[in-house]
Amino acid sequence: MLTRRHFLAASLLTPFAPAHAQQGAKVDVLASFSIIVDLVRQVGGERVAVRSIVAQSQDPHDFEPSPSDVRRVMKAQLIVINGLGFEPWADRFVRAANYRGERLVASRGVKALSERGAIDPHAWQDVENVKLYVENIREALSKVDPSGASDYARNASAYGRELDALHQEIKAAFAAIPKAQRKVITSHDSFHYFGEAYDVAFLAPQGVSSSAEPSARDVAAIIRQIREQRIKAVFFENALPQQLARQIASETGVKVAGKLYADVLGDDVRSYAQMMRHNYTTILAALK
Ligand SMILES: [Zn+2]
Repeated sequence: MLTRRHFLAASLLTPFAPAHAQQGAKVDVLASFSIIVDLVRQVGGERVAVRSIVAQSQDPHDFEPSPSDVRRVMKAQLIVINGLGFEPWADRFVRAANYRGERLVASRGVKALSERGAIDPHAWQDVENVKLYVENIREALSKVDPSGASDYARNASAYGRELDALHQEIKAAFAAIPKAQRKVITSHDSFHYFGEAYDVAFLAPQGVSSSAEPSARDVAAIIRQIREQRIKAVFFENALPQQLARQIASETGVKVAGKLYADVLGDDVRSYAQMMRHNYTTILAALK
C-alpha cells in the first residue's frame, strides 16, 4: 500500500507526458517484475531498455512502492504488467506517479483459471499463454515505437518458435510418466496453469496469494492428502520460506524435492525459458 507519506511525496510531482523516442535513444519500458522484464527484452531486443518495478528480491504480490519507485516512472514510455490481479498495487502506483503514457496488461486475452473463488494470476506457467503475452508486447512496443515494428515482429516470431518448442518439450516429458504418478505439493498455489497445460496435479496448502498464511487445518488436510494419494514430492519456492515444505515433509516422510520458481527469476534461472526448464526437470526428477 502507498502510505499517506508516499502520496504526499508523489503529489509533489508534476504531471509528465512521456517523451517520444528520439533518434538512437532506446525505448524506456517499465515492467512490473522479472518475468515480464525478460519477455519485454525478448521482443524489444536492442531497441528497448527495460527496468523492473519490483526488485527480484521482493514478492511482487505485496510490493509497496516507495517515493523513489514512483519517481522512476517519469521517463517511461510504456508500463507492462501481468494483470489478472497479480499486481494489486499497480493502479495506485501509476496514479501516484501521474503517468499518462501507454500501459499494457500482458495477459490480455488469456483464459484465466480460478481457484477457491479467486482468479489465479500465474498464467505464465503455461507456455502457450506466454505466446499471447509476446503478441501483446509486440503490439504495444510497435505502438510506442512504430519505426521498430518490423524488428519487434521478427523478434516476436523467433521467440514464439522457441516457446512452441519449449511447450512441446514439457508436454512430451510429462506424457512419459504414468498419470497416477504426476502429483506434487507446492508451498503456494501458483502452478494451476502448469498443471492444466502439462497434466500434472499440484496440491498446495496455501491460497492463491503468497501473502495468505495457511491455517493448521489446511496443512492437516494436505498431510492427509499426501498419505492417501501416495504423493512423492514436496517443493518449496524461491520467494517463500522453506519451513512449511519441510514441516509437511517431516510429518509425512516424503522428500523435499527442490526449489521451484513461481513468481520471480533468480540467479540460476535468468530467463523465463530457463525458469520453465528448471521447474519441469526438477519436478520430473522427483516423479521418476
Ligand atoms: Zn504467486
